[in-house]
Amino acid sequence: MTTVRKRRFIAGAVCPKCAEMDKTVMFTNDEGEEVRECVSCGYSQTTSEQAVEDQAKEIVTRVTPDGKAILDEGEQPLRILGLNPKK
Ligand SMILES: [Zn+2]
Repeated sequence: MTTVRKRRFIAGAVCPKCAEMDKTVMFTNDEGEEVRECVSCGYSQTTSEQAVEDQAKEIVTRVTPDGKAILDEGEQPLRILGLNPKK
C-alpha cells in the first residue's frame, strides 16, 4: 500500500451522520472520484453518490406542486364534456 492520498479538511463542513463539524476531509479515490470522509465516525460518500441524493431531494420537492396542477387541469375538460348539453 504505497498510495498517497491528499486529504484536506473542509472548513465548516458538517458530517451528515454524526453531525460533527470540521471533521470532514476530502480526497480523490483510485477511480479519480472525490470522496468526503468523516474522520470522527468513518462516514464516507463520493460526489456521485451525493449528486444522486441531491437529485432525489429535488424531485421530491418538485413533484408535489406539479402533481396538483396536473390533476386540476385533468378535471376541467371532463367537467366541460359532462356539462355539455346536447339537445
Ligand atoms: Zn461523522
